[in-house]
Amino acid sequence: MSNSLTSAADIVVVGAGVVGIATALQLRLAGCAVTLVDRGEPAMETSYGNAGAFAVSDVIPLAEPGVLRKVPGWMLDPLGPLALRWRYLPTLAPWLARFVAASRPKRVAELTRAMAALLNRVNDDYAPLIQRAGLNQLWRRHGNLTLYRSEEEFGAAQAAWDDKRRHGVGWHKLGRAELERDAPQVGKEWQVAVNVPAWSHVDDPYTFSRGLFDAFIREGGRFVQDEVLATACASGRIAGVETANSGRLKADAVVIACGIWSDRFTRQHKYRIPLESERGYHVTLPKAGVALHHFIQCASESFVILPMGNGGLRLAGTVELAHRDAPPDWRRAHILIDKAKRIVGDFDTTDMSVWMGNRPSVPDTVPVIAPAPDVGGLYFATGHGHLGLTLAATTGALLTDMILRRPSGFDVSPYRLDRF
Ligand SMILES: Cc1cc2nc3c(=O)[nH]c(=O)nc-3n(C[C@H](O)[C@H](O)[C@H](O)COP(=O)(O)OP(=O)(O)OC[C@H]3O[C@@H](n4cnc5c(N)ncnc54)[C@H](O)[C@@H]3O)c2cc1C
Repeated sequence: MSNSLTSAADIVVVGAGVVGIATALQLRLAGCAVTLVDRGEPAMETSYGNAGAFAVSDVIPLAEPGVLRKVPGWMLDPLGPLALRWRYLPTLAPWLARFVAASRPKRVAELTRAMAALLNRVNDDYAPLIQRAGLNQLWRRHGNLTLYRSEEEFGAAQAAWDDKRRHGVGWHKLGRAELERDAPQVGKEWQVAVNVPAWSHVDDPYTFSRGLFDAFIREGGRFVQDEVLATACASGRIAGVETANSGRLKADAVVIACGIWSDRFTRQHKYRIPLESERGYHVTLPKAGVALHHFIQCASESFVILPMGNGGLRLAGTVELAHRDAPPDWRRAHILIDKAKRIVGDFDTTDMSVWMGNRPSVPDTVPVIAPAPDVGGLYFATGHGHLGLTLAATTGALLTDMILRRPSGFDVSPYRLDRF
């Protein structure tokens, strides 16, 4: 069967999170007639409240031996960086088994190469989109700081940093004096930092994603607010999608970008993508009164501080393995406040808000950006885990090349969906 399409093709993108929005915008800019469908308003699910980082140095998969060694200690602390809802364990077990399997050194090396290939092109893929959407003023391109308490703590992470350098990530180490110069708010408990100049962030990921969506509409894209019930196929090819209220939306190609909810469509086609939620929390402090310049990562506690402009902060992170619909445990958000105070000192919590989101995660960390193996014109963009904002533009660029059959010279085989 042929997937060959022209730029005049009708394309439906299902899911208006940042991955679907960036994909729809790229396809529209390539001249396609694009309909973006979401059951809710754009960017109101996981893409609403993330930490706003373009985390280009996160090339090493989560399941690496260093992380696995720390897991037992983390699990003993219910409010530590990683928590598991034990009743969910039987459901989660196959995903966890694959996670452990992905930690074999040979596999880690392959996965690191696959992630680096994507992450090394993130800034180039985003720059024209951000320019076109007029969002340059939100994009802060001055790197991040990963903090360590001591030389010993940094020393334990040095091998990983060296590995990152081998995979194209530039970084330099700062001592206490340089840290004080660049981020005087950071307390004396933190003696060492690593700066990745290519890392960037946006003041507010919702405003950013919404800005990309507005650009999509300005460029002539169509948005339909409706729930997609199923894909429609005829003779082994995609014909469109069936919606709850708008009937069938016809299409020559369909992209499923439904984040953690993509399983509805993988199940329909009997594909086995092991997709689970790594739930994460944030606290937003609009009046914190801390004028930070850099995005801050705390290596030992697995959380981050996003400067949101005007002294506002967002604290985000931690992983909770639980069903996507389980009630949130807001203590996991509140503990971030004390942790952050140990870094930037006391701050104002007036008007603070908390939030929980579902990172759509596959056990080997590498997202699925791929055509369906046996349905012409059907594509999947899911499993972006901790890096959906970071990888959205690159995902859109790769899918546009695949759908329009444009030669890119980029090896997309690591992101295929039949690898599981
Ligand atoms: C605390 C936290 C911090 C994070 N920090 C970062 C960060 O700093 N940098 C980074 O890169 N990533 C970060 N992430 C991860 C990032 O937020 C996600 O990877 C990303 O938002 C996933 O985007 P998505 O478009 O795939 O999914 P979503 O944003 O969840 O969008 C999916 C959309 O599909 C729609 N949908 C689902 N089913 C249907 C249906 N049947 N019909 C119609 N519509 C449907 C939903 O309504 C939703 O709008 C963080 C995540 C969390 C939780």
